[in-house]
Amino acid sequence: DVKENKQLLVEKDKENIWHHITPYSQNHTPLIADEGKGSWITDHNGNKFLDGMSGLWCVNVGYGREELANAAYEQLKKLAYFPMTQSHVPAIQLGEKLNEYLNNEYVFFYSNSGSDANEVAFKLIRQYHEQKGSPSKYKFISRYRAYHGSSMGALSATGQALRKYKYEPLSSGFLHVAPPDNYRRPKGQSVEEYNIRCAEELEQKIIWEQKETIAGVIMEPLITGGGILIPHKSYVQKVAEICKKHEVLLIIDEVICGFGRTGKMFGFMHYDIKPDIITMAKGLTSAYLPLSVTAVRKEIYEAFKSSNENSHFRHINTFGGNPAACALAIKNIEIIEQENLVARSALLGDRLYEELKELENHPYVGDIRHKGFLMGIELVENKDTKEPASAERIGKIIKECKDLGLIVGKNGDTVAGFNNILTLSPPLSSTDEDLQFIVDVLKKVFQENQ
Ligand code: PMP
Repeated sequence: DVKENKQLLVEKDKENIWHHITPYSQNHTPLIADEGKGSWITDHNGNKFLDGMSGLWCVNVGYGREELANAAYEQLKKLAYFPMTQSHVPAIQLGEKLNEYLNNEYVFFYSNSGSDANEVAFKLIRQYHEQKGSPSKYKFISRYRAYHGSSMGALSATGQALRKYKYEPLSSGFLHVAPPDNYRRPKGQSVEEYNIRCAEELEQKIIWEQKETIAGVIMEPLITGGGILIPHKSYVQKVAEICKKHEVLLIIDEVICGFGRTGKMFGFMHYDIKPDIITMAKGLTSAYLPLSVTAVRKEIYEAFKSSNENSHFRHINTFGGNPAACALAIKNIEIIEQENLVARSALLGDRLYEELKELENHPYVGDIRHKGFLMGIELVENKDTKEPASAERIGKIIKECKDLGLIVGKNGDTVAGFNNILTLSPPLSSTDEDLQFIVDVLKKVFQENQ
């Protein structure tokens, strides 16, 4: 039995498994996870780690929730599958639940992943414009440094060069503009002035390309994987206004920010805007099962409802919206509600920042920023020039955290030269003791790396 023989487990992993992104190499020793409880993962050797990244930013309610396992189990026994060309009870119940947060203004198209949800958004927006008599509106604008998924369309929207250039040609019609990066804004501009200027640049892009060709803008409420870039409210509001003015639909990618991560149920709720489309995945089920949603404003859906088959949205996703995942998602949202995890996210994030802000005096810490329980610590070699910290320096800090039992992430954009942001996104269900553990490990590691 491979599981009983720990050394064999490592060898079999090496022999048979192609890890996402990181192949085996001398400096990559994968953590082989065996069990999870709360914010903690136990590996195959029995070592425990606090998962300061909630996996890939998704296990919002923490590991080991029996009620989630039971919700899936009960549903699998009752009805394991039915295609969403028709419907089933958990799909309807989940739609009802999601609309409690969205004023009953949206309909929900189910698929399996964040990439899927964004692909659905792109396709249906193109078709929408075509059916509204504007077939030339086909281009999408997104931001450099943003990540929107791995499939060809979602990758085309992604603004991180290293993920893309070996896979070209990508889908045509995807354009990029710079996001606000407040820490690195030009000298002499206030954060607000700079953010408005970034939004104006996006408008310039629309005008330059001609608004008759622009179908949509996709953005996260704040850039997560590109390094926790938190815009000023004026930026998001202005982008929403610009989209409206030029008849460009606004997709808000809530794949990471959704379900409490930023201290609101959805990240866009910080900015008083109404997205045309909202994409959700990860935190929707806390990653216990695959499920994603493309939420579409009802007015947009109207354009697809005719009895003329040519106007239907020709997109099927076999597993999308499978009953067990929907039943589990409902339970997951109920846990978020019952345990007040949205408010807890805001509280834990603020406390983490309070505890860590003294690190801003550390020679290699350029900036610490957070929204809810989502934090970026930008490391630099030199605080005056803001030269990004070297890969070695960051790698050492991450390794030392791991040696002390804390998993932290590293994000940014390698080609742009900024892969220097330590990221924290722990489960929203973290206890006070978990928070203290995170603080203690980080303080110790930074103290030893002066
Ligand atoms: N959008 C964002 C903001 C993401 O972070 C991700 C995944 N990290 C995706 C989309 C794609 O999601 P998935 O990996 O489920 O396809």
